[in-house]
Amino acid sequence: MKSESSSSGQSKQGAAPPCAACKLLRRRCAGGCIFSPHFPSDQPQKFAIVHKVFGASNVSKMLQLPEHLRSDAVSSMVYEGQRKLALAEAEVVQLRMNDQFNPSTSLTDAVTSTSPRQGVLPVGHDGSK
Ligand SMILES: [Zn+2]
Repeated sequence: MKSESSSSGQSKQGAAPPCAACKLLRRRCAGGCIFSPHFPSDQPQKFAIVHKVFGASNVSKMLQLPEHLRSDAVSSMVYEGQRKLALAEAEVVQLRMNDQFNPSTSLTDAVTSTSPRQGVLPVGHDGSK
């Protein structure tokens, strides 16, 4: 009987986890990753939002700003992204509501268009012999 001493799946070096951006983009998070100071791995939501709304290329473009402007730019981008996502969700809800209204309006249309027909029945003229 062999006693297996701790062979758990721990990695050799204490490598830092990839930042939220690299994790989502499935890239290798290199040492000088421009995303990692602004999108830490413990806040994946932050990058997910800006990635969804603005796209990764725009985010990386923004991170080419002078360093002292970046964190401001990132936080306003995250804020804007959250707002846009909330608006988009509201629009989807509105669209669904409109969808539910449409059938009822066409139903009343059908009713009003059939009713006048009863009075316009042509009367047979039967006097020509
Ligand atoms: Zn990274």
